[in-house]
Amino acid sequence: MRLSGNSVATPFARKAQVVVVGTGPGGSTVAKRMAEAGRDVVMIDAGSYISAAEFSQREGEMMRKLYQEAGLRTTDDGSMAMLHGRVVGGSSVVNYLDCFRTPERLLYDWVARFGLPELTPAKMRPRFEKIEEILHVRKLPVENLNLNNDKLRRGTEALGWEGDTFHRNAKDCYGSGFCDLGCSYNAKQSAAITFVPLATTSGATLLTDARVDRVITEAGRAIAVEGTLLDEARQPRGTFRIDADVIVVSGGAIHTPYLLLSSGVDDPSGHLGQNFWTHPGSPVCGWYPGERIANYEGIKQGYYISEFSDVLRGHPTGVLIEGIGAPPGITATIFPGLGWERQEMLRRYNEFSAAGLLLRDTVPGSIAVGKGRPSIRWSLAKADAWRLKEATSRCAEAWLAGGASAVVTGHSRLTMIRSTKELRKLDDVGWGPGEVALFCFHQMGTARMAHSPAVGAVSPTGRMWAYQNLYVADGSLFPTASGVNPQLTIYALSDVVADGILAET
Ligand SMILES: Cc1cc2nc3c(=O)[nH]c(=O)nc-3n(C[C@H](O)[C@H](O)[C@H](O)COP(=O)(O)OP(=O)(O)OC[C@H]3O[C@@H](n4cnc5c(N)ncnc54)[C@H](O)[C@@H]3O)c2cc1C
Repeated sequence: MRLSGNSVATPFARKAQVVVVGTGPGGSTVAKRMAEAGRDVVMIDAGSYISAAEFSQREGEMMRKLYQEAGLRTTDDGSMAMLHGRVVGGSSVVNYLDCFRTPERLLYDWVARFGLPELTPAKMRPRFEKIEEILHVRKLPVENLNLNNDKLRRGTEALGWEGDTFHRNAKDCYGSGFCDLGCSYNAKQSAAITFVPLATTSGATLLTDARVDRVITEAGRAIAVEGTLLDEARQPRGTFRIDADVIVVSGGAIHTPYLLLSSGVDDPSGHLGQNFWTHPGSPVCGWYPGERIANYEGIKQGYYISEFSDVLRGHPTGVLIEGIGAPPGITATIFPGLGWERQEMLRRYNEFSAAGLLLRDTVPGSIAVGKGRPSIRWSLAKADAWRLKEATSRCAEAWLAGGASAVVTGHSRLTMIRSTKELRKLDDVGWGPGEVALFCFHQMGTARMAHSPAVGAVSPTGRMWAYQNLYVADGSLFPTASGVNPQLTIYALSDVVADGILAET
């Protein structure tokens, strides 16, 4: 059953056995498992349910409907854009479909350092197999690469580096190129069209347009959630309360700690909201004067360079370089230069290829309670800035080897590199706030899983230490940054949490 906050009677009240806050990869996994086990489940999302027919492919309209703060959220210091979804299905609705199983060397690290024996590769494999079947994960054939990604492949192969096409959760994708504005063809197998309907088919209730403002606890138990029902203009129109035997918070790695901290829950670990990992990334573009690259056409993310990944190859730089395409609005916020210089760059937008850097950060930020919204405390650490410079150089080399006449970095001061000799220009440009465009698409780690409260905010089953029935299941669980695109890891860790809930409650 699906209910909307903009039409249910207010105040709305209900009892359930399990309430799940958030319907992204984390929340939808737990909701599905609980409903299939016969529990009475209510899933709640602050976002709306948006069907394929409603994805208009118009950037302004869709950014407002699908993203937190219309996609304009940043870290407190304004240095990094923070993109994440606010819609049924969470960020899986707007993501680029890249699927990586958690790399084995990372799983061994998490098992050893965080005391998580359920996460060995052998125990995780069947979970991944099951999830990949539901999400229809397949490797992209090389002939389906768009020109942008194919240029990146050619450069990578010319240099003898390791790279590959992505595995993607797509069915009958013909490459419309609007992944980040929602898939109008339901080719993207997001949580909204897989795990969420599997949960409702098994009897779960989905309440949309309903923001949970508070988790209510009493004597070591979570007893209810309370919140605000939103009308079509996203204005408050009433209140709701759901009493439940088990409460699962799956609002993503920013909103989960924000909700729990603003509810005043007891966190003996002191880790809640800490260890905020972001995979800071920056665009690096190749310039092919006179050639139509149109990086936004076709399958935007098709090819990646793994040569410099620490989790896949043990390389100290710790970066994945991924082909990417961006819609014009976002591009306009990134492109360097000022005035005429910038206008000229945008006029030539079609001649630029683009790649994004996914840096595995080593110095985390934190999430705290700000004035009515999360406070996102993060800035690029010196050690990570140095690695970002290395990663930018490697990406520039790949574009040049793939035939680009020049490479443009994401620096606000126009930085054009025409040969590998000119890479030294990167020593003279700044990497501080406002000096280089930074993006975060992956939020992780703010309620990390571990064997003891000395190390993490939740137990190996995702349970808050001070409560018998309060769980976390989403990207917050990551002990460290994953170093690869995180969605499959989130589905799999949340599946571990689902087992824990079924065993413990
Ligand atoms: C543009 C973009 C591209 C990406 N590309 C990829 C990719 O190619 N591959 C990949 O692996 N990952 C990708 N990601 C990241 C991936 O999609 C996310 O890591 C993943 O969806 C996070 O899952 P989650 O369950 O932790 O939270 P989310 O998906 O963020 O879901 C959280 C949900 O909780 C809801 N919520 C939050 N607070 C409340 C509240 N108080 N009350 C009610 N509801 C609430 C939100 O509305 C949201 O729907 C991308 C992300 C973005 C933004």
